[in-house]
Amino acid sequence: MVVWTVVATDDSYVWETGGNELQEFSVSKTWNQLRNRASEQHWTQNIWFRGHIPRHAFTTWVAYQDRLPTRAKLVSWGMNISSACCLCSLVDENIDHLFLRCEISGTVWSYVMCRLGYSHRGFHSWNALSEWMRLRDSVVSLPLK
Ligand SMILES: [Zn+2]
Repeated sequence: MVVWTVVATDDSYVWETGGNELQEFSVSKTWNQLRNRASEQHWTQNIWFRGHIPRHAFTTWVAYQDRLPTRAKLVSWGMNISSACCLCSLVDENIDHLFLRCEISGTVWSYVMCRLGYSHRGFHSWNALSEWMRLRDSVVSLPLK
């Protein structure tokens, strides 16, 4: 025979993430528990660092994933526009051309690198840019890069 005893107590709740009981609700711990995590990319630290500017970080993150809506990409999606580079109008505008190979962006890189005190004037690949951004040197601090 089973005897049930009903005890009148107030209901209570417990916040828990990953099997750990929390003293109070934490948005960041909940988000980290819920989201899908991909492996960390070699360029992650170049973008998401203490003191990053959110708009710049987001745009760079999109660029690293080749998801910027360049003109060539917009044309491939069916838009009826010119796919020519918005800076030089000489070749199709894709992310590599726009940031690394365009003569005008190369001029901008050259000015910036000279102003920062570097002797080299630009980059020809995203890997070279990423490696330069990660490299600690005495010329410029990492956040400024
Ligand atoms: Zn161009």
